[in-house]
Amino acid sequence: MHLRGVVLPGDEVRDLWVRDGVISFEPVRDAETLCATGWIVPGLVDAHCHVGIRYGGGHEDRDGAIAQAEVERDAGALLLRDAGSPIDTRFIDDHHELPKIIRAGRHIARPKRYIRELGIELDDERDLPDIVAEQARFGDGWVKIVGDWIDRSVGDLRPLWSDAILKEAIDAAHREGARVTAHVFGEDALPGLINAGIDCLEHGTGLTDDTIEMMVEHGTALVPTLVNIDTFPDIADSATKFPVYAAHMRDLHRRVRDTVANAHAAGVPIYTGTDAGGSIRHGRIADEIDALAGAGLSRHEALAAASWRAREWLGRPGIEDGAPADFVVYRTDPRSGRDALDAPAYVVLRGRVYPGRDPVTGHR
Ligand SMILES: [Zn+2]
Repeated sequence: MHLRGVVLPGDEVRDLWVRDGVISFEPVRDAETLCATGWIVPGLVDAHCHVGIRYGGGHEDRDGAIAQAEVERDAGALLLRDAGSPIDTRFIDDHHELPKIIRAGRHIARPKRYIRELGIELDDERDLPDIVAEQARFGDGWVKIVGDWIDRSVGDLRPLWSDAILKEAIDAAHREGARVTAHVFGEDALPGLINAGIDCLEHGTGLTDDTIEMMVEHGTALVPTLVNIDTFPDIADSATKFPVYAAHMRDLHRRVRDTVANAHAAGVPIYTGTDAGGSIRHGRIADEIDALAGAGLSRHEALAAASWRAREWLGRPGIEDGAPADFVVYRTDPRSGRDALDAPAYVVLRGRVYPGRDPVTGHR
């Protein structure tokens, strides 16, 4: 197979070939031309995605997990960083037609301090380092902990862990060669997590100038999941018994685009994640790219955060000679706006071509 187009991020018109599922910049004889014009973008990354959590809640079965992964692929998301799944999705590694999943094992939380039955719930926080090390061995280089959640006894967001135990737990993960990320909505859990050396924060809606500065010092990454944060007003509406919490959630939502813009301007590395699964449908990577482009990132930076920069962060190649042929072909520059992003002409995964979406009818 042969393609010609503008290859990102280099922005040059190039010819590339695909043979045996791998990219080649050397001509392949008798190759059929798939496209002679277009934009060729390294496979998109949903860096916060839950394959295995059913939309509406609960555990997905194998067929359901496969269906979720197919939806991600068709949207161009070919590399998924799982941010905690209640089921073992390792069987997906044998499905070459499905995106690559980088697993984080199961969420680690405390009783009544996260979505029920999703994570491992520790009665005693002193078990955290051992459980983190166990999940580090179970995952693909990431561990996910729940950093804060509503504490119904106080009626507001509160950290789940003491600062000292976080430091021990994150050190334990690093000894296993794994990186750690945390779910965090509010302000109070942030200093403990960042100072403990956490590698990434999910959501991070409570970031302030001070904690953004701490992230910059520690090199902590941020995955804001804006399409999920936009559900905060609904969460607040349903939390009638907890007015302080509801007001807090509304406030976090109101300023989230400024928060992300401030973090980006300060130099915090930002990556796209949709939080698909549970309350967000799969296949919304274009929505998140578009949302980041409305939160202080240029359209080029927002695409980079969902493609080549995220791939580099996760240790996966872009469009390189000898790399797996995982890329998305667009008819028009995907940095030109929402319509272009929504209508990839082709999705190529491990050298296999999947049809994109017709820009007019929306059909594949
Ligand atoms: Zn999530």
